[in-house]
Formats: sequence, structure tokens, C-alpha cells
Amino acid sequence: MNSGSAAKTLLFWFSILLLGVMLWKLISASGPSADSVSYSEFLQLVEKNEIRDAHIYLESNSVSVNASLRHSQKHVGTTLSYGDLQDLKQRLIDSGASVEYSNEKKGDWVLLLLNGMPLLLLVGFCLFLMRQMRRNRWRATQGSSASSRTGIGYDLHRLEEGRPLIVGGIELPFDKGPVGHSDGDVLAHAICDALLGAAGLGDIGTHFPDTDPQWKNASSLVFLEHVRKLLDKSGFAIQHIDAVVITEKPKLGPHFPKMREALAKALGITPEKIHLKAKTNEGVDAIGRGEAIAAHVVATLVSP
Ligand code: MG
Repeated sequence: MNSGSAAKTLLFWFSILLLGVMLWKLISASGPSADSVSYSEFLQLVEKNEIRDAHIYLESNSVSVNASLRHSQKHVGTTLSYGDLQDLKQRLIDSGASVEYSNEKKGDWVLLLLNGMPLLLLVGFCLFLMRQMRRNRWRATQGSSASSRTGIGYDLHRLEEGRPLIVGGIELPFDKGPVGHSDGDVLAHAICDALLGAAGLGDIGTHFPDTDPQWKNASSLVFLEHVRKLLDKSGFAIQHIDAVVITEKPKLGPHFPKMREALAKALGITPEKIHLKAKTNEGVDAIGRGEAIAAHVVATLVSP
């Protein structure tokens, strides 16, 4: 049983309990049962001053009386027509009995409704709250799935001696660097592709072709700044970026804080939204031989 069903069950039994208490109070408030006597017998009791008090109930077609006796714990009851009511009232007063009137039967239902109204309102309010909570949860679920999008990016560059090694927007001290039209930053390029893919806006080659001379030796942080503007125009915000950079040398971990700062600044987000990891290729293939560097990135976007 989930929490919603448990709450409904508890509410149901709580309502039943309150309803039972209310009915019990109503029944107990209707007074003790009375021995039924004929109207003439009742008049004899009045004449003998046996009636201490009488409660007269005015019903639709007749009048009923419930009276307590002076010398007994018993109650007696009788019925009479409206034509005899005035005479009975006078006789009771003359005998010293106290007399009360009420529209008893109609009052029962009015009393029942009045007593039950708070309970009905309480149950209705609880059901309303439960419905609203369920609707809000549903909206939250629908909203998060509809506005969240994920993209993947990958890049690889050959490494040659004598070129600067730029990774994550910063230059690392190393004797080799990537071969590329721009600065060859594999991490920045893979991030661009992941973001563009998540937004459905193409890839890095579409926006920054390596045949365009304006991107010759350009900083890849410029690409990230441009992608950020594209995302802004499309109504997307970066929720998270997770990346792994694969290279045999140098060690990248000590440089991650500066990389995250540079990347976050270009993207207009906090460094906490960027997670970086480093791997070697265990000496296998071109990366393992130190001939290349690669990066894999997963990016998640949301609609603000
Ligand atoms: Mg590239």
C-alpha cells in the first residue's frame, strides 16, 4: 500500500468514527424512551399532578408529548391532535408542570445536517488537498521529463611535438600539442557537440567549419561562448556537464580546477555544473602511444 492509499484509508475510517460519534450523540440527545399511554390516561396523570415536565413536539399532522413523572424515573408519552393542544397546555400549566416546545422531527434532520456539515467540509477539504497534491506531483513529473534533454559529444586530435597543449581552455606544460584548425581543445570541442546535440542545433562542424579562416588558431572558448548564446536563444539552460578526457600524458587531474573555471566562465555557469575525469588508454592504440588525445562528454539541458 503506498502513502496515498494509506492516507485515504485512514481518512475513511476517521470519517466513519466521527460519523458514529455524531449519530450516537444525536440519538442520546433525543431523550429517554417513554411508555406510551392514551391521551385520556395522560390527562388523568395531569389531573393528579403526576407530570413534572412535558416536552411537546409539534409534528406535521399531530402533536406528541414526552413527559417525566414527579414520583418516578419513568417517562410517558402520548399523541394528540392540534385541536387539543391549547387545552393540554393550560392543564399542564395549571398543574405546575413545566412545558417546552420543539419541532422535534424536522429538527432531527436539521440537527443532523448541522452536525454533519463540519465533517463533510473536513472530508471534502482533505480530498481536495490530496487531489491537488497528486496533480502537482503529476505536473512536476511531466514538466521535468518534457524540459530535460541530454546530448553526447566526442572529439580526438593527433598530438605533435612543438604545439601548445590546450585542454579545457588552459595551456598545459607538455612537449606535444593537438593538430587542428583551431587550438585543438578536445574537451571544449566535445562539450560543444554535446550541448549542440542536446539542443538539436547541429554540431561543431556546422557552426565552426575548419575551412573558415576566421577560426584559424582560434580559442575554443570562443566556440563555447557562441554555443551559450545559441542555447540562450533556444530557451535552454545547462544543467550538468560530465566529461572524461583520455590521454597517456600529462596527468590532467591537478589542472581540473582551472579547466572547470575557464569552461564555466565561457558557458556562463558555475564550475559545480562541470564534472571532469581523466583516463589513460593503458598504452593501447594511438592514444596509448601518446599520439592522440580524446574526450567524451555528456551534457544535460533544461528549459528554464
Ligand atoms: Mg576537434
